[in-house]
Amino acid sequence: SGIVAIVGRPNVGKSTFFNRLIKRREAIVDAVSGVTRDRHYGKSDWNGVEFSLIDTGGYVVGSDDVFEAEIDKQVELAIDEADAILFMVDVESGITGMDEDVANLLRKVDKPVFLVVNKVDNAKRAADAVEFYGLGLGEYYTVASMSGSGTGELLDDLVKALPEKEDVVEEELPRFAVVGRPNAGKSSFINALIGEDRYIVTDIAGTTRDAIDTKYNRFGFEFNLVDTAGIRRKSKVKEDLEFYSVMRSVRAIEHCDVCLLVLDANRGFDGQVQNIFWLAERNRKGIVILVNKWDLIDNKTSNSIKEFEREIRREIEPFVDVPIVFISALTKQRIFKAIETAVEVYNNRAKKIKTSVLNDTLLPIIEQNPPPAYKGKYIKIKYITQLPTPQPQFAFFCNLPQYLKEPYRRFLENQLRKQFDFNGVPISVYFRKK
Ligand code: GDP
Repeated sequence: SGIVAIVGRPNVGKSTFFNRLIKRREAIVDAVSGVTRDRHYGKSDWNGVEFSLIDTGGYVVGSDDVFEAEIDKQVELAIDEADAILFMVDVESGITGMDEDVANLLRKVDKPVFLVVNKVDNAKRAADAVEFYGLGLGEYYTVASMSGSGTGELLDDLVKALPEKEDVVEEELPRFAVVGRPNAGKSSFINALIGEDRYIVTDIAGTTRDAIDTKYNRFGFEFNLVDTAGIRRKSKVKEDLEFYSVMRSVRAIEHCDVCLLVLDANRGFDGQVQNIFWLAERNRKGIVILVNKWDLIDNKTSNSIKEFEREIRREIEPFVDVPIVFISALTKQRIFKAIETAVEVYNNRAKKIKTSVLNDTLLPIIEQNPPPAYKGKYIKIKYITQLPTPQPQFAFFCNLPQYLKEPYRRFLENQLRKQFDFNGVPISVYFRKK
């Protein structure tokens, strides 16, 4: 596991390569949720090792015509946040000044760096590629993003260089990650909870602070709050912050149990917030949505809450039973309610339903609403068990699992949600051969 960042100047083929690695998985997610996904972050795996992939180029504004300074920033961010870096260059254009700049930054890094020479699709180009030794980064890998050739060899070595998957330690405290866009009020929320100014919170985007995990005890329940607003750099333009917050969110989300997704009520559940939401969903983490700065909304009625909720739930279909709490970090309105809800979601995620209860509850429902026959073949679900995983996964054993389709899978997921409380928790349903 780990985070892999792809860096390099524009038009060397970063996004083609990125899409090739994540394509299959993303397509599946799309079919299920029908959402617009963010195209710069995805999960991939190779030889059973899963990793997150970030196309940093996607976060640079106007990436067709980027200034060198932008690329440098992008690389710095990748160096800070990623576990391994793929530096892509283009054999067609050879070494450019920008490539040299990037190489200078990467030479000093003590993280694994893979120099990837793209567009190598014939013997001549393979011979041309030797020029890239000149970047002083040692061995390189040749690939052709378009066809995918050379990818296997690179990935073999890449996954070997990634950190081992962390073992889940039983005693470890639950981790709640506070995520969201810059200035949504994440730090203010944490400060309000802790009741002291651990950080200086200002309106100025880009204030430097320390990253911090705060151990917190409430309702006799101990947990870690992870603040992604933590590290920030001085005097960065807004776009950088956005990118940076995404990078930090990726890591925080991967290492948490429940995400507290903070959004600014004035800005709503916009595209960037949605990206973070689906990031959490794809990682199968518990989610609570906190609509912050509720104090700033004028003429509040019970309808304004309902209206706001409706809008969010429309965007997150079909995963609609996510708790939404309207808070104000400023006035401390409902901030403890937010934590209480996170604890509930945490418990929902850890919930284990006995096989007997599952079967007694669901089999009669299935009998009433059996899966449609497929080409005259009768599909029978025989029994159900919950798998012993940290997050809820259910196996439905049946005679012909391959003929069970998405609508029926969704029906079963909805039944699980209806019969047992899984608010805020993504659940997985699998069909297995009896
Ligand atoms: P972060 O980047 O998500 O950590 O956001 P901050 O906590 O730094 O907050 C950004 C700005 O929003 C600061 O000026 C805060 O004072 C302000 N702010 C945060 N929460 C609230 C709130 O509930 N109500 C109001 N009115 N302002 C808030």
